[in-house]
Amino acid sequence: MQSNTLGASSLVDAFKQVELLGATDWRERSTALHTLSQAGPAALDAIIGGTIHPNWRVRRGCADLMDHLADARCTASLISLLRDPIASVRRLAVHALSCQGCKQCPLDIDIVAHLNEVVASDTSIRVRRVAVHQIGCQPPDDRAIATLRDLIRTETDRGILSRAQWALMQHDSKVVPAHPNEESRTQESANRYTQEQVL
Ligand SMILES: [Zn+2]
Repeated sequence: MQSNTLGASSLVDAFKQVELLGATDWRERSTALHTLSQAGPAALDAIIGGTIHPNWRVRRGCADLMDHLADARCTASLISLLRDPIASVRRLAVHALSCQGCKQCPLDIDIVAHLNEVVASDTSIRVRRVAVHQIGCQPPDDRAIATLRDLIRTETDRGILSRAQWALMQHDSKVVPAHPNEESRTQESANRYTQEQVL
């Protein structure tokens, strides 16, 4: 039975908990996630170390934790995770890097540049959908508007199109919602994308 709090030697305990993020039993992973989340900044060195762990579940857990705990020390690790071979790791990294509302203080990086790159090049439709949504959560930005207009003109995935319409309205108050018939031009596009790792 694990403890839900870190002990006196908290750094050693934090590294142990990070290892447990890779457990095959989801209950063990969940307890470790909670323990590390409760530990907060005291666990951050161990969490940063976990972003290069060979077990993808550990990397995914660390990306997840960074959504709330990340500070400037985590920026390089999160940017590296945007190129992780596992789509679910990238998806959580996209969220953690771009979601400022969950953090004590916002990360000082060019978020739109990273999100635009994910939208343009990621092979996972789910990762790209999260990135498009997160573009809509950023302050008004001409580069974001250009990306979103381009998506609305060329994208065929319904999930991306609806998020792009919403996101464009956040960046440009002059945009009106698309006519419902616009959706009729969207087609199945899943076969455009490589097979994702199923979680
Ligand atoms: Zn968040």
